[in-house]
Amino acid sequence: MPLHAVRPKILGFISEDVSAWLVALLVLLGGGVLTGLLAWASFNAHHQQMAQRFHLLVNERKSRIAERFDDQEQRLDSVRRFFVNSESVSREEFDGFTKALLHRTQAYAWAPLVARSERSAFERRVREQGKTGFSICDLTPSATLQPAVERDEYAPVLYSQVQGSKGAPLGFDLLSEPARRATLQRARNLNGMAVSDPMQLMGVDPEYARGVLLVEPVLRHTVAPAHDTAPLGYVLAVISMRQLMADGFPMPSQDNLVVQIRGRAQDGRAEALYESTNPVANHPLHYGSMLRLGDHVYDLDVRTSTVFEHANHSAVAGLIVMGALLSVLLSALLYMLVSQRQRALALVEQRTRELRLRELELSGAHGQLRGVLDAATQVAVIATNLRGVITTFNAGAEHMLGYRSVEVLGHATLESLHLPAELEARAMELSQRYCKPVPSCQAMLVEGGEEGGHEAREWTLVRQDGSHLTVNMLATAVLDELGLWVGNLAICIDITERKRVHEALAARDLLLKKLSAHVPGGIYQLKMVADGRFSVIYASDGIRDIYEIDPDVLQQNAEAIFERIHPQDVARVRASIRISSLKLSPWREEYRVQLPVRGLRWVRGEATPEELPGGGVLWHGYISDISDLKRVEEELRALSVTDSLTGIHNRRYFQERLTTEMARVERGTGELAVIMFDIDHFKRINDVNGHAAGDRVLQAICERIRQRLRRTDVFCRLGGEEFMVLCPDTNGQHAHALAVELWQSLRNTPIDGLGTVTASFGIASWRSGEGADALLLRADSGVYAAKQAGRDRVEVELA
Ligand code: GH3
Ligand code: MG
Ligand code: MG
Repeated sequence: MPLHAVRPKILGFISEDVSAWLVALLVLLGGGVLTGLLAWASFNAHHQQMAQRFHLLVNERKSRIAERFDDQEQRLDSVRRFFVNSESVSREEFDGFTKALLHRTQAYAWAPLVARSERSAFERRVREQGKTGFSICDLTPSATLQPAVERDEYAPVLYSQVQGSKGAPLGFDLLSEPARRATLQRARNLNGMAVSDPMQLMGVDPEYARGVLLVEPVLRHTVAPAHDTAPLGYVLAVISMRQLMADGFPMPSQDNLVVQIRGRAQDGRAEALYESTNPVANHPLHYGSMLRLGDHVYDLDVRTSTVFEHANHSAVAGLIVMGALLSVLLSALLYMLVSQRQRALALVEQRTRELRLRELELSGAHGQLRGVLDAATQVAVIATNLRGVITTFNAGAEHMLGYRSVEVLGHATLESLHLPAELEARAMELSQRYCKPVPSCQAMLVEGGEEGGHEAREWTLVRQDGSHLTVNMLATAVLDELGLWVGNLAICIDITERKRVHEALAARDLLLKKLSAHVPGGIYQLKMVADGRFSVIYASDGIRDIYEIDPDVLQQNAEAIFERIHPQDVARVRASIRISSLKLSPWREEYRVQLPVRGLRWVRGEATPEELPGGGVLWHGYISDISDLKRVEEELRALSVTDSLTGIHNRRYFQERLTTEMARVERGTGELAVIMFDIDHFKRINDVNGHAAGDRVLQAICERIRQRLRRTDVFCRLGGEEFMVLCPDTNGQHAHALAVELWQSLRNTPIDGLGTVTASFGIASWRSGEGADALLLRADSGVYAAKQAGRDRVEVELA
């Protein structure tokens, strides 16, 4: 099944193939739209809420203002009724009544209507009542009071209950000022309350000075109300708009509303009765209504203030910001989720591909391994599980043991293939070694410890036909990837043939050993590798007698041989070996060895070289002790060059030495001389004294001469009674002196019983270019000359 067919969708609906960027963009767009809708809904709800709240606030404010207006009217009317219902009202009574009413009213005043004719009496009466200096006054343009001018009637302020600290403007004729007069006139005309236009109030603290007068005429209660009936006076309520509209309401800085009350003036001018000082909101809500006070109708205009705006700040902006942020976050999250998942899936896909490849490789390797196992027909590979039951039985095992793998797999155990007696013996041996019982079935698996590590061991296996097979078995534990022991593996090699060859070789070795034991001397194999180093491959026991070195030691260190060879011979031996290796010629050498026990011995070595394939030479050789032979040879040699009668050297030796010395002088090194002498009349001695006496004479003369000679002189009997002295490094003069000395010794000392025996001497010293024969001839000629000259003398050297 292809991988993409089973891919789950992210969050259940996003396909894996969609680009992470596209998903993020879609989510961002969706989030934006949703945020917009939410903001719009929130904006509407907010507006509705604001409007509701505004109307609640407005209604409450409007009703309270209306209430205050009504309250002002009712209290003024109660003052009026107080006057109407009293015969006369004293100042104290007025003060007492109005004091309790002074609530959000700057002052209450009573201004009686005084006709021109009554003015003086009125002023006098008032002054008499304690208000000294009282007079009816007019208000000048500079806002001061001065005695009123003559008029038909006056309406001076007589009583006044004032809230502030300023005194009441007593005596101020309200009719003297146009705005107040107009108000009084309207009240009189209406016979009801009239309200002045907003004005600067008299006798009021400056901060409360802006306000209106609420005026109501007082008629006699006995008089029926009529249009033209003159009132007794007027009661006034001095109302500060600030006090009326601001006190008891929120401070401007905290007020949600901006209130404006506009009066409708007669001339159509809209004059503000009251105006809040707090700022209007940027986008205020608006409410308009009407209010009535006295004879005036006012327009109430209410708007929302900045405080309201701030308090009801819309959360839309925050919502949009939050929505945008959430959208961005969500899109980023989804981008990460999608891209990470895509990466993870790509990674999974890649890993899966790799795993498949590995699987293929593994199955290939498994097949190869199986092939190798089966191809190894000379090796039996047997694997078992922990119970010892065979789980692998390769073609080599089938071939070796005769079983087919299907017969043993899952049925037979490794133990069943072994020879029981051998297993039991091994198990017993292991039990003793480890001091704990080792079962037979594990005897082939337990390491003996004596060899150390995984060592193959020889076992006898039983074939299907019952015959025995000797194998070398290496048993190892099989571990799984966690290192747990899951079974065993036995690798067996048939060593029957090897064993047979080994035994044959051992027999040959024994034979060789025995044979060599009966041969004097030793036989050996010496190998020289390409770099010139020697190694002894084989050395028989006889070698021990030759070099007094153990053969085993020689096999470790072949150079020990050369340490035994006499220092004067070792270079010669090495040189001859080298020549043999170069020419592959048979090596034969006689040399001396210096042995620790037997001392100096002569040995003879003979060996045949053969070239080795990789370079180097191998010698098969034989070395024997020839010391006895050498001694006999030397004796024979001595005999061959010795005169048997006199014991001095014979002619042969003389010839040899002469040849040697001639060669030396011919090379230009030194001199050479010979002295020859012949006994005089020896025949006569023989004849007179007998042959035996003649022999004795020869012996005696030789003895005497020998004593006189130097160690380097060679004294020889040439034959009969003729003798020769070979004098190396001697010139003719010295030879003559020696000859004279010898001659003197002979003739001066007689031989016992025979008397003096003399001889004739001839001398010859070697001359350049002269041969041996010429030299000897000259010596012989010297002897002849001496004989001729009468014998018993030394003839000087002949030319
Ligand atoms: P001349 O003075 O001239 O040399 O006379 P001669 O007698 O010495 O010379 P001649 O050659 O005639 O004689 C040599 C003799 O030496 C002859 C021989 O019998 C004798 N003679 C040779 N060899 C031996 C020997 O070994 N023993 C004895 N006893 N006599 C020997
Ligand atoms: Mg002679
Ligand atoms: Mg003679």
